[in-house]
Amino acid sequence: MKKNIFILFTLGLGKSTLVNTLFKSQVSRRSAGWARDEKIPKTIEIKAVSHVLEEGGVKMKLTVVDTPGFGDQINNDNCWEPISKYINEQYEKFLKEEVNITRKKRIPDTRVHCCLYFISPTGHSLRQLDVEFMKRLSHSVNIIPVIAKSDTMTIEERQEFKQRVRKELEMGGIEFYPQKEFDEDMEDKSDNDKIREAMPFAVVGSDKEYQVNGKRVLGRKTAWGIVEVENPNHCEFALLRDFLIRSHLQDLKEVTHNIHYETYRAKRLNENGGLHPISTNDTQESNL
Ligand code: GDP
Ligand code: MG
Repeated sequence: MKKNIFILFTLGLGKSTLVNTLFKSQVSRRSAGWARDEKIPKTIEIKAVSHVLEEGGVKMKLTVVDTPGFGDQINNDNCWEPISKYINEQYEKFLKEEVNITRKKRIPDTRVHCCLYFISPTGHSLRQLDVEFMKRLSHSVNIIPVIAKSDTMTIEERQEFKQRVRKELEMGGIEFYPQKEFDEDMEDKSDNDKIREAMPFAVVGSDKEYQVNGKRVLGRKTAWGIVEVENPNHCEFALLRDFLIRSHLQDLKEVTHNIHYETYRAKRLNENGGLHPISTNDTQESNL
């Protein structure tokens, strides 16, 4: 299968629900063989779950790496380390195959193409931990910040919060995807500027379906109505999904390969020729 995308979920709430939402939303509902009631098990370790989607007649494999509650502990020091280690281990696997003399025609690729970072809908500021985490990881993976559970905010609160988060990300020097420095030309820049101004996407997740105007939709039922996950008037899940698996899929992979992996590779080859057996401990430096 040519198309293959890996997404990593990290801190914050609503991760597993959003994994289910991605797999069950419009795109995947058209694909064959998906048991509607299948549920992704609760995560206690870093675990990859794959599902084949069909998009415009082309099959693609979407693999989501769901991570348990890092950062939800009392002591969150270095909580990015297991995630950083996981990302680097995938680079290391790829590198080992690449330098192999009997190189495979197609190297199995499990590199993480993007990392969705879930910001809690507090309406306040980003936590120090959020800033630290994104900053650490932004040099080894494409970070896409999203505001989770955005149905808990009013429209005004959501707009204000998005604006504040954008400002804080900028002040914190966090380069999220699509990174300005990798815009290829003016057209690319103007397209990406629009996206950057709309980020972080305020999403809502659900794996439950309800009947709305004669159609079954994914949604959250509340005392005052149904929040429709895929309705762009209700939240930005559809925007996020299209961005991830339609408009920017190829670019996410290219930036991963040409920038993040290349940085890792250069560093490893400089270290020791890159051909010696390496223990996993050597690969988990988080300041890469
Ligand atoms: P995880 O621990 O990050 O994987 O979070 P879960 O997906 O298990 O969700 C934790 C809780 O938040 C569950 O009770 C979900 O039903 C709820 N939840 C998940 N997504 C949303 C959302 O978009 N809006 C609201 N209001 N609740 C959500
Ligand atoms: Mg979970």
